[in-house]
Formats: sequence, structure tokens, C-alpha cells
Amino acid sequence: MHDLVRATVLGLALAVATPAIAAPATAEGRYTSSGEGPVNSWWVETPHGQLILFDAQRDTSNANQLIAALQATGKPVAAIFVTHPHPDHVTGLGLVAAAFPQAAVYASAPTAAEIGGDTQGLLKLAADASPGALPPPHFTRVLRDNEAVAVDGIEVRALVLGDGESVGVAAFWLPKMKLLVSGDVATTGYVPWLAEARTREWLVQLDDLKGRVPSGARTLPGHGEPGSYAKLSSWMRGYLQAVRREVGAAQRPKSPEGDKVTEAERNAIAANLTKRFRTSGGVAALPIERLWKLNIDAVARELTDGLKGYLPEK
Ligand SMILES: [Zn+2]
Repeated sequence: MHDLVRATVLGLALAVATPAIAAPATAEGRYTSSGEGPVNSWWVETPHGQLILFDAQRDTSNANQLIAALQATGKPVAAIFVTHPHPDHVTGLGLVAAAFPQAAVYASAPTAAEIGGDTQGLLKLAADASPGALPPPHFTRVLRDNEAVAVDGIEVRALVLGDGESVGVAAFWLPKMKLLVSGDVATTGYVPWLAEARTREWLVQLDDLKGRVPSGARTLPGHGEPGSYAKLSSWMRGYLQAVRREVGAAQRPKSPEGDKVTEAERNAIAANLTKRFRTSGGVAALPIERLWKLNIDAVARELTDGLKGYLPEK
């Protein structure tokens, strides 16, 4: 009798276990912040059962929840990588690094420099608003473009793309797992941060990455859902091109108030793009109207200053 029960239980256990066995060997862990501007932290497991973490959350509360999620795996964190120096990815870095003192910490050289220098003052603002945040840790090593580190047998290669969505944008490529951690270069489903007025550079970076990773590579974005690089980059490219086109149209001399983008034009652009790209909120913890104002002002400035004479056809 006991054996029968045991066999049945085992049978059930096997039946339940089968899908897990069929799951891809590269199944990743994820923590996404709650509240405005959901931001992802991702981790993957090495063949020897250690974790590699990417990005460290926007505030103390979410960093602590990320730490709890990592601790719940029962596995040690071997390394922490930072994709770019925006506060939603690094405000929790000091806390996370302190929770896993054995972990090496890596970032691209320009990201590490910005985290140290905070030239825009964004990091201090975020840290001040996040009581209990710790100062950023010492970086074990800063990475140049195409430089790789091996973490417990897993190669992590830095693709340092330059200034775009932020200064010092990088993505990380794990060739063995055919996995790209794209940071905010290729995201999906949320109004992106365009306030640094570099949509043109950003578009170039998307093409740059296209030449460096397979289009089918599974891509883990800083915001929104994972998918193939082809899928995420085409969403991002389409979004950036649409914003540039619409802001450019609002700047045409014959549009209302000529080259000035009026509030009505801004609202129309926001409504169009929200519908067309099905965004649910923005990447920043800001009221969405404020994000739109920052974004459209920046793109307008970029088109005027950077591309004199850029006026799209009717
Ligand atoms: Zn960002």
C-alpha cells in the first residue's frame, strides 16, 4: 500500500516535473519594481549554481525586495553588472552589493564614471529620496567595449554603445546562453526616457547591436517583457522614429504656432503614440504628463539643434 502511494506520488511528481525539465536551460530570474516606472532586475544561474545579477533597482524598498528574492533562491550571487547609470537601475546598487559582499561588481567604464561623478545630479536626487540607500560600491573592474569577463564559467561580454538613452549605455551579451541583457536600449511597452535628447544616437546603437547579436537572441530589457532582439529592437526603433516624425511635424512652420510645439500638439503626440505603441505608463517614476513634456521638449531641441533643416515631408 505504502509503495503504491509512494509510486503514485512519485508519478505525480514526475508528471509535474516534466515541464520544468523541458524549460530552456537559460531560464532567468526576475524582480520588477512595484509602483510607477516598473524596472527589471534580471539574474541567470551559472552551471555551478551561482547567480549573475543585472541592475539593482530604483530605491531602498525595491532593492530590499530584490535582495530577498535573490536570497530565496539559496544561491550565492557571484557578480553584479550595471547596464547604465540611470537612478532606477543603480540607486539600490550599494545595498545589493553590501548584501552579497562576495559578488564582483562590473560596469562599462563610462557608466562607472557617471556613477562616481553624477554629472547630471540624477543619482543624488534619487538617493536623497530613498532613505537607507548606501553609496555605490567599488567596481571590481570597469569594462571597455567588447571586453568580457568569465563568471563561474559564463562569459559576459560588455557591448559599450556610448551615450544614448543615458550616458555610457551598455548591453551585456552572454554567448553561451545566447542571451542579451539590453538595459534601456531595447525595451518595450513603456514610454521611454528621451529627455537626454539623443534619439539619433540611440537609433544608431540599435543598428550597431543588430550587427553584434543574433536577431533571435533572447533579450532581457530594463523595462517591459523579454523577447527576441528583433522584436524588442523593432518596437524601440519604431517608437523613436515615430516620436521624431511627430515632433518634427509639430515643428513645421505651417503647424500651429510654427516651430514651437504647443501644448495641444504635445497632447496629441502623447495620445497618438500611447495608442499606437500600447504603452502602460513610463519608465520613470514621474507623472506621465511630466515625462511627455521632458521627452518632447528634448526631441524638439534635438531636431532643431542637431539636425538643422530636418523637416519631414507632409
Ligand atoms: Zn535608463
